[in-house]
Amino acid sequence: SSRVVIIGAGIVGTNLADELVSRGWKNITIVEQGPLHMPGGSTSHAPGLVFQTNGSKTMTLLARYTVEKLLSLEKDGQNCFNQVGGLEVATTPERLQELKRKHGYASSWGIEAHLLSPEKCAELYPLLDKDVVLGGLHIPSDGLALAARATQLLIERTREAGVCYMGSTAVTDIARNDGHVTGVVTTAGTIPADIVISCAGFWGVELGAMVGLSIPLLPLAHQYAKTTAVRAHDGRDVNTRMNGMNACLPILRHQDQDLYYREHGDQYGIGYYGHRPMPVVASTLGVTPKQVDEKNMPSRLEFTPEDFGTAWRESQKLLPALRETEIADGFNGIFSFTPDGGPLMGQAPNLDGFYVAEAVWVTHSAGVARAMAEILTQGWTSIDVTECDLSRFEEVQLSPSYVSETSQQNFVEVYDIIHPLAPKESPRNLRISPFNARQRELGAYFLELGGWERPYWYEANEHLIPCLPAEWRSVERDAWSARYHSPIAAVEAWKTRTAVAMYDMTSFHRFELAGPGAVHLLQRLTTGDMTAKPGTITYTLLLNDNAGIRGDIFVARLDDDLFQIGANSAAELAYLIREARKEIQRVQVRDITGSTCCIGLWGPRARDVIGAVSPEDFSNKAFPYSSVKRTSVAGIPVVMHRRSYVGELGWEVQASPEYGQRLWDALWQAGQPHGLIAAGRAAFNALRIEKGYRTYGADMTTEHNPYEAGIEFAIENKKDDFVGKAALSRCSQTRTRRLRCLTVDDGRSVVLGKEPVFYQGQPVGYVATAAFGYTVRKPIAYAWLPSSVREGNAVDIEYFGQRIRATVTSEPLYDPQMSRMLD
Ligand code: FAD
Repeated sequence: SSRVVIIGAGIVGTNLADELVSRGWKNITIVEQGPLHMPGGSTSHAPGLVFQTNGSKTMTLLARYTVEKLLSLEKDGQNCFNQVGGLEVATTPERLQELKRKHGYASSWGIEAHLLSPEKCAELYPLLDKDVVLGGLHIPSDGLALAARATQLLIERTREAGVCYMGSTAVTDIARNDGHVTGVVTTAGTIPADIVISCAGFWGVELGAMVGLSIPLLPLAHQYAKTTAVRAHDGRDVNTRMNGMNACLPILRHQDQDLYYREHGDQYGIGYYGHRPMPVVASTLGVTPKQVDEKNMPSRLEFTPEDFGTAWRESQKLLPALRETEIADGFNGIFSFTPDGGPLMGQAPNLDGFYVAEAVWVTHSAGVARAMAEILTQGWTSIDVTECDLSRFEEVQLSPSYVSETSQQNFVEVYDIIHPLAPKESPRNLRISPFNARQRELGAYFLELGGWERPYWYEANEHLIPCLPAEWRSVERDAWSARYHSPIAAVEAWKTRTAVAMYDMTSFHRFELAGPGAVHLLQRLTTGDMTAKPGTITYTLLLNDNAGIRGDIFVARLDDDLFQIGANSAAELAYLIREARKEIQRVQVRDITGSTCCIGLWGPRARDVIGAVSPEDFSNKAFPYSSVKRTSVAGIPVVMHRRSYVGELGWEVQASPEYGQRLWDALWQAGQPHGLIAAGRAAFNALRIEKGYRTYGADMTTEHNPYEAGIEFAIENKKDDFVGKAALSRCSQTRTRRLRCLTVDDGRSVVLGKEPVFYQGQPVGYVATAAFGYTVRKPIAYAWLPSSVREGNAVDIEYFGQRIRATVTSEPLYDPQMSRMLD
């Protein structure tokens, strides 16, 4: 088998070795700079609290697997997980609402959870001052990972299976040849390898630098303190109470004050995120000593009591028993934060055979290790890990200043209540389209994604609200769904459907594929037929070997050997670049997003507008739906794609950015007689959902196949072969679940996504994306449900603890005949 070297024997590296061994891989070496019995990384002092529930399904499922695995990892009758349960308490009304939302996530992702009254919280956790607490969320399956013990058991088990461990040996360089890793250079010599996986925790940046790879993580110190003994609250001796364990009360979170707690016998452990961010540069910590112990390890810095004052005061308020104790011991421990809070997993885009599994909490460690092992051994994962992909960041997001600022912000916000649409406050205006000046003049309200400023609506359209016909009026929203929303979106939707609107599409990813190998590459990777003549646009899918959807793209053939791809993310670019290297004939993949700008001109009057400023023939015959042409608009060279995400007649007009403002002005002027407005993403999303267009990442992921997602029309069955084809034929008959369209019966309750869906009283699925459908005058939700739930069935969506009745409906809701787009 391949020769594998894993760098780092923390909870991630050792779990990964174990997962590889259990899949039959043999030739594995782990190199660890610290002594193996206590390597001195973050794992060596992790208090090990595992709260599984998260807004992200991926993160929750990664955590759930960690719990399962640590429960099964045992020696001498003791496993590595103390399943004391988890309790999160609310001391503010906002947090109480947040816990209801979190209870919904738990139901969505299949974790048992209970909302508790203050009295029930105090019953479960007698040390709590119930006058301070407004309520709680109890997850019985949460608990404490015995991370250091687990690491030692994993070392023992994998050693017996033949894994070679090299302790007190540092990796100093990565050997490579011709774009492929060939080994690791260590203080004990070079070890040849075909695959190297860096599980170096917060030293990841240093390891990445060895291969010229920017690793977007920031090591930050985080305070953890232990109190002196707390008098046993129920009068029993601590050992009896704990039944020989180190803790018996649930792990506890007090997020309103950035605090968490666990027991250490009769002492209390207090973790705090409310202090100033304390960034660390790993390379300044020096060489890991030969002798590491509890007090002397590179990941442990001196406690700074002046940063702990508020934590101590607030802890004594929540847990009055602590008033009789003191801080016995404390430290500032180091671990990794990233710009979006997620882990970093996957293959380096610039070096074949070099992988990374870093910025991983103990909570997600076994889940991440399993997913990495699946990537290595079979090429696809059972849990979708797209949001953890090392390549998910845009280039600008890899700069040290961006990583530092956003990772520190993530530390500060780690326990905050964050709205799904909440934009970063800083850094902003990193990437602006050439239309930005005009958009500001129109009062654009911008939200940020991938560094781009994207208009959500335009205040300039507010004056049209009184003109809205009654049937287009939107509904009153509750406080949560009203955030980052404006009733102006209804005007913009109305104008798009009845006149014409222009949308800034610049931030959408565009890649160029050029060269004699381009057709072959696309034929190999996509489900569609890429041999169509130049001038054609094809919507197609990228699948993994298990027929899971790894992307959906628009491929426009501009020339025999020149294609333009409309894609969702930077990760797709990394995939295409990597696969292009395997082609025998040359093919070059280039990101042209920033070197082009794009306006979507959509609506029934689009033809009138564009016809007024371009010599091109825009008749249906000359420029049919799904075709692409090079032409000109107001004298500007453009590439025009006839397609639409909003389900109306129209074109996407692309130009080089230096022409952007002129292009905007020309279309704007030509559009005025036809009622043209500028419209933003709020209307766009609603119109897209009405039309049933899926968004990769939100509506479908690698966990779903095209039949389940309802996009089998994008498969060209006649094609001989493509990635995922073999698996696709296996799954075409078995659709155990479906992406279904729901409409909300009361016509006004808008949900936002990720809410659980109940059928006959049982949680059976979850909402993927949702919006108010202005044209159909109802809230819409696309949800993943078992196939047994059929059209016409009534279901309930849980939203902040309330049940909202909805009906499974045939889709798309808007223009199923495509008459709007094809005419
Ligand atoms: P590490 O344990 O740091 O392992 C990486 C290893 O790589 C190290 O042993 C290091 O020596 C080795 N290495 C690095 N560079 C080289 C090199 N060049 N050559 C050879 N070896 C190298 N997480 C939770 O889920 N729950 C919690 O309650 C929790 N509490 C925490 C409290 C504190 C105070 C801290 C600091 C962290 C906490 N964490 C918690 C986070 C958690 O501890 C870490 O995220 C996790 O342990 C990281 O595991 P790892 O294996 O990736 O990294």
